[in-house]
Amino acid sequence: MDDMEQLYQEIILDHYKHPRNKSEIPKQDMQADEENPMCGDRIMLAVDVEGDVIRRIRFDGKGCAISQASASIMTEQLQGKTIAEASALIDEFVAMMRGEKSVTQSENEEWLSLSGVRKFPLRVKCATLSWRGMQKVLAAQ
Ligand code: ZN
Repeated sequence: MDDMEQLYQEIILDHYKHPRNKSEIPKQDMQADEENPMCGDRIMLAVDVEGDVIRRIRFDGKGCAISQASASIMTEQLQGKTIAEASALIDEFVAMMRGEKSVTQSENEEWLSLSGVRKFPLRVKCATLSWRGMQKVLAAQ
């Protein structure tokens, strides 16, 4: 493992062990409940939107380190964005994970950390689960 891979693993493990914006979500607040049965991942989302700005994202869930770290990263990166900005970022992230877009175009360290899963098609679902859930929430706004 080279130094960059080591760094990327540390970023993912840090988000997995110390998830940002993770809390229990009461049923009435839940806006997305996504499952990835291939891996046993589950992501629930509650999103507060004010005007067209995403004020707060909470997530809850269980599953592999990739799915949970990716959800934590997603909440940090999309909070404070407008719905249009967030939608564009989600599209970009999903395209990157699917290998449709080069990673070097992005200088986002967290995305680069997650991009290692592109070699493993099943893990791509883990990485994109929370982002797809968020896409659905925003589409319903
Ligand atoms: Zn998973």
